[in-house]
Amino acid sequence: MNAVRPVDGIAFEAEADVLIIGAGAAGLVAALAAKEAGAEVVIVERDAVPSGSTALSAGLIPAAGTRFQRQAGIEDSPALFAQDILEKAHHEPDPAMVEHLVERIGPVLEWLADRHGLPFDVITNFSYPGHSARRMHGLPKRTGSELVDRLREAVEAQEIPILTGFRATTLFRAVDGLIAGIAGTRPDGGEERIGCKALVLACNGYGGNRALVARHIPRMADALWFGHSGNEGDAVLWGEQLGAELVDMSGHQGHGSVAQPHGILISWATIMEGGFQVNALGERFSDESQGYSEQAATVLRQPEGKAWTIFDARIAGIARQFEDFQNAEAQGAIVSADSIEGLAAKTGLPEAALAATAIEVAALKRGERQDRFGRDFSNVPPLAAPFHAVRVTGALFHTQGGLRVDDAARVLDKNGWAFPNLHACGGAAVGVSGAQASGYLSGNGLLTAVALGEIAGRVAAMASA
Ligand SMILES: Cc1cc2nc3c(=O)[nH]c(=O)nc-3n(C[C@H](O)[C@H](O)[C@H](O)COP(=O)(O)OP(=O)(O)OC[C@H]3O[C@@H](n4cnc5c(N)ncnc54)[C@H](O)[C@@H]3O)c2cc1C
Repeated sequence: MNAVRPVDGIAFEAEADVLIIGAGAAGLVAALAAKEAGAEVVIVERDAVPSGSTALSAGLIPAAGTRFQRQAGIEDSPALFAQDILEKAHHEPDPAMVEHLVERIGPVLEWLADRHGLPFDVITNFSYPGHSARRMHGLPKRTGSELVDRLREAVEAQEIPILTGFRATTLFRAVDGLIAGIAGTRPDGGEERIGCKALVLACNGYGGNRALVARHIPRMADALWFGHSGNEGDAVLWGEQLGAELVDMSGHQGHGSVAQPHGILISWATIMEGGFQVNALGERFSDESQGYSEQAATVLRQPEGKAWTIFDARIAGIARQFEDFQNAEAQGAIVSADSIEGLAAKTGLPEAALAATAIEVAALKRGERQDRFGRDFSNVPPLAAPFHAVRVTGALFHTQGGLRVDDAARVLDKNGWAFPNLHACGGAAVGVSGAQASGYLSGNGLLTAVALGEIAGRVAAMASA
């Protein structure tokens, strides 16, 4: 399906200065930046309506030193943000690239707000694991569908065409190494070719391609895939044929909190604000606060690959700002009871074990004991009735490995040379999480989609001038 072919003798039916494959956050932001830099831009998107993994996400984008933070009285800096990313990722990613992205993302969010009307604000009532300041920026509904819809509307307002129902299959390469255009298939089976002066790969990673997941992330080969079905690894497959360098291919974002059987993301606020997870035996099994990404595999190792998250009404009040949580409540995923014994009865968890775990957590919060898993409970209040529980499993959300790019988002080959007019951003490019699930700091996905998307679009426009 995915091919790289010589351009000899190919006639293109249409031409663009900057051609973008994929209309998720990365592709749409790249399009806005390229258009503003003066290029004629075309986006191709395989779906009938752009959504991507962006629409499935909570749409939360981390940025430091923004005016939205200042308005909320939050002190933060790109340097602190970079330090948090590198610490979570065990210092595996390139520090220069991390610095570059954290410097860029704040101005890009302010540009999206001022020029394209996206009303960002900061989540102020809980912290994500590993973030030493509150810096997750979201739109009012806190949904990724709102983010992708607003970006699409901005793209439409700029009269940038989005060719939907166009699945890019082939890249055409000229003898001088430049990408000359692409071919793609239409729903009726027809093929169309579009020439370009610069190409941006914004078609995300390979989480929806079981064979690639089995090859690169074997421990998640059978995990629930919770990302978009169109993330089939096209950028990686073209990159392999072009001789591009692929990095950190085992890196990914997992999540240890997808409601079962409802399949709804439950905010990690349920943990960070003082909730905890037990397995079917009613026992805790980890330091849940380390991060939701690594918790996916930890939950999958429990009996039946499931866990229960236990929290209370105060925490539910915080989680309710997310539409997903409201949906989970509406669909009956959240079980409630006035006592831990009542919760045990409703969940089927063993009463004595669950009560013992709740007593232990209360003692840990009072500072009377050290947690055997190493979790610090000192900053969170005790749980109070009514109590809540939700049955969850671990899932694969998106891949973080991908094409190595330089600071202009140009794809690099195995010798470190840049393909002059080929760019990658979002999940098509390698992220800043290193090669392990535990390296994923919340928001790393949309960070590279939005910051690298803007860079890719702007530089691609210059390359096409
Ligand atoms: C449930 C969930 C929650 C998440 N929450 C967050 C969060 O709150 N914060 C965060 O930072 N990250 C989060 N993420 C990760 C985040 O969603 C992704 O990192 C981000 O959306 C990637 O953006 P993208 O534009 O690269 O990819 P996508 O949004 O997936 O867009 C890629 C687009 O390319 C199209 N495409 C693919 N191949 C082709 C082709 N050959 N031809 C044409 N079109 C093609 C696809 O159809 C798709 O529309 C979450 C992910 C999931 C699944």
